[in-house]
Amino acid sequence: MFTVAIDGPAAAGKGTLSKRVAAHFGFAHLDTGLIYRATGARVLGGEDPVAAARTLRVEDLARDDLRTTEVAQAASKCAAIPEVRAALVEFQCSFARREEGAVLDGRDIGTVICPEAEVKLFVTASDEIRAERRYLELSGKGQDVTRQGVLEDLRVRDQRDREREAAPLKPAEDAVLIDTSEMDIEAAVAVAIKAVAAVFEG
Ligand code: C5P
Repeated sequence: MFTVAIDGPAAAGKGTLSKRVAAHFGFAHLDTGLIYRATGARVLGGEDPVAAARTLRVEDLARDDLRTTEVAQAASKCAAIPEVRAALVEFQCSFARREEGAVLDGRDIGTVICPEAEVKLFVTASDEIRAERRYLELSGKGQDVTRQGVLEDLRVRDQRDREREAAPLKPAEDAVLIDTSEMDIEAAVAVAIKAVAAVFEG
């Protein structure tokens, strides 16, 4: 069992880094943002947030409408409700204990979900760079977004995620900080793999 916790604000590059680290070491990967997005999507469909979180199914994570800014905002509102977070803890913790090793990325993995994780990374980048990357990703998928709209979405969510009482976004005390503002993806992946290898391979 070996757990890597990767946290950071929206669109900092956690998803790509997590996938690449997981593939490199043969670990399983869970994007925990997806479970909040799936909860948020059901709330947009009219359900109560706590009821939606308590009855979340694996199929909900495969919905193809989770990567929109509307769902992201709904996710971040649900994520501030302590009962929603509590309902989603067990799923995340059991994933983290998988035999083959696990990478979980989110906001509170190193601080709340897996405080005992062997490696904790906190990934950041400037607001403008994160917004530009997310804008290119969403517009590349054909979504009708503007640079300004994406930047606003990230700023509003980051502020809500940082200021909430329940499991706020912040680096664990022993997290390795990776600022990807000046790095391309390959450089960031190399830094992350090196940090994990230093512990995993001794
Ligand atoms: O990572 P992603 O942008 O998909 O996450 C969507 C929202 O879910 C975040 O803005 C945050 O409010 C919430 N979230 C969280 N804790 C996590 C992962 C995501 O609160 N571990």
